[in-house]
Amino acid sequence: MLNSNELINLIKEYNPKCDEGLIARAYDYGKNYHEGQFRASGEKYFNHPIEVAKILIGQRLDDTTIATAILHDTIEDTKLSIKEVKSNFGDSIAILVDGVTKLTNLQISSGETKQAENFRKFIVSMSKDLRILLVKLADRLHNMRTIKALPVSKQLRKANETMEIFAPLAGRMGMQSIREEFEDICFRVLNPEARNSIMRRFLKLKNVNVDLVPKIIKDIQKELSLVSVDAIVSGREKRPYSIWRKLEEKKESFTRLSDIFAFRIITNSEGDAYTALGAVHQRWRAVPGRFKDYISQPKSNGYRSLHTTVLGRDGKRVEVQIRTKEMNEVAEGGVAAHWSFRDGELFENPFAVDPLSWARSLTDGFEAAENPNDFLEHVKLEMYNDKVFCFTPTGEVIKLPRGATPLDFAYSIHTRIGDHCVGTEVDGKRVPLYTRLRNGQSVKIITARGQRPQINWENMVLTGRAKSAIRRSLKHERRVENIRLGNAIARNAFEKVNKKPTERALVTAAKKIGSKTADDILAALGAAELTGIELMKLIYPEMFKGENLPEYSSDVISFVGLPAGAKGKTAKCCKPLPGERIVGISRKGKGVLIHAIDCQQLIDFEEKNENWLDLRWPEKFGTEGYSSSVIVTLLNKAGVLGKICSLIGEQKANITDIKFFEERADYYIIYIELDVRNIEHLMNILSAITADEDVAEASRHRGSKQVFSSVTPTNSES
Ligand code: MN
Repeated sequence: MLNSNELINLIKEYNPKCDEGLIARAYDYGKNYHEGQFRASGEKYFNHPIEVAKILIGQRLDDTTIATAILHDTIEDTKLSIKEVKSNFGDSIAILVDGVTKLTNLQISSGETKQAENFRKFIVSMSKDLRILLVKLADRLHNMRTIKALPVSKQLRKANETMEIFAPLAGRMGMQSIREEFEDICFRVLNPEARNSIMRRFLKLKNVNVDLVPKIIKDIQKELSLVSVDAIVSGREKRPYSIWRKLEEKKESFTRLSDIFAFRIITNSEGDAYTALGAVHQRWRAVPGRFKDYISQPKSNGYRSLHTTVLGRDGKRVEVQIRTKEMNEVAEGGVAAHWSFRDGELFENPFAVDPLSWARSLTDGFEAAENPNDFLEHVKLEMYNDKVFCFTPTGEVIKLPRGATPLDFAYSIHTRIGDHCVGTEVDGKRVPLYTRLRNGQSVKIITARGQRPQINWENMVLTGRAKSAIRRSLKHERRVENIRLGNAIARNAFEKVNKKPTERALVTAAKKIGSKTADDILAALGAAELTGIELMKLIYPEMFKGENLPEYSSDVISFVGLPAGAKGKTAKCCKPLPGERIVGISRKGKGVLIHAIDCQQLIDFEEKNENWLDLRWPEKFGTEGYSSSVIVTLLNKAGVLGKICSLIGEQKANITDIKFFEERADYYIIYIELDVRNIEHLMNILSAITADEDVAEASRHRGSKQVFSSVTPTNSES
């Protein structure tokens, strides 16, 4: 382990004015507080924070960050308090140490929703000061370097988490070398066989070409001196994981030098970079389609460079990257370049990304996505996908993740364009909205004012922006529908207790369940989060003391054929309706239960003839409703549910409950409970629903919704 002086000397190499007292004090504190602690590998614990500090020194970071690195585990693992850190090291270090501790305590990969919420906190906390994240990345990097000391199950968990969160984050921050190291360590843990096979071929290829690399460097240097460009030329092996990823993506083998080696020209000025490019292109033939100018069009993480591939010695492909020193610092250090030093001064690298605006671009999705899962999805997508660039009809470039569709394109121009999109032309040809866009395509969006986002759109888009806009709009429409539906349910519920529905009564109820407005209550009713009876209990609790409302008004009916004095009640299992053939089962002391003639429950009574009563409905049943239920399979399309409810309303039936059972991309199944006059009434309603073009299937359902939810529906995909 480095001692305090050795560590300070490392810093002084790039920052001669380093605050030696501060670093020495942090060193002593850390060493004392971690005394007697050991890592899983058996080494002294304090070695870990020092290694973390060394990683950050490698990025030429400021004293505050280095001191934070030395102290980063003290709050979590030792008796040192944040108060003490504050009084000894000042506010900014205390804030950073506290931030790193909090990040460490987040369980980022535990369970879906929790993970999403934690990830959101993670981003929020680091957006205060990105140096928190720099220390966290360095911390994770050293932990990954020493991962072999952990049990295998823990290695796998850490590697997955690193691959999912930390590697893309490092990439997003432009810290390529850290990203590559993360990926390689994870690759070794997660897929050692693949890595071995890559390495075998890699070494073979390297052996064959071993003399070639210095020769190519010499060739390039010679060309540069001819145009008087002073530059550092180097050859660099590619990492096994990045080779693997390319193989996976392109599904081709790696056989060429350019598959494992890249050459780099680091110039003193931007002008030199272009001159160097010209020299290289003049001497060797450029491979078409491989030239990229990231200097005039930098990547969003600040990366600037010229990329080209030429046919070099013996026609072998040579990949060349050309950039200035400053650009190279940003390419390797990314966001960290903002805090870098040169000759003892905090060096203002003109190409460094402003950390604040960078963090803002990452947290942009916050307000839009209410649901943390939506947000996580958004951020993950943003980080994982390479981009495609497409053009608007006016030639404007729109950047999208690979796999994006014209709908994504529309939403990235403007939410209104997305919402009103009815079709698209790609390169002048009409194509479906789910078509995946390719680089360089020109996309025209056709809009119509009446258009609204459709439910199946959610599965067609890839970008977080489009997803959250579509969800917002659908949620809004669903709410409007739910309110309309809730209104009908509420009216019916009030009627049953002989009260009038008033705004005030609804607001009273709303407050009792923590909502605000009458609309909230109606929406809850419509969404089946609340039933009519529950609503009445909220508003008129005194009415329900000690008893439940009779569930079926048919209780009072005298069925033809009942023994004198006996009372009949319709069974919940089959809910028979007037007009249907029925049978009564007498239960000792409990009256007679009326079943429909084909009720499954009757099988249980088959042996007991004496219990059976032949009954008929009376000639007159009054005008009250009988509870019945239907199962409807609907196309998943905005407005359909509302249409079904108006159909039922037109038939003068009351909806008393609605429940959603399966919601899929293309259809969903709902359970509707309603009051009908008789079997004929129900059949009329069913034919009206079935006749609708957006209904796949509608059938009567006997029994309760609980019974339904416990069986697998058979009518779902037929
Ligand atoms: Mn640590």
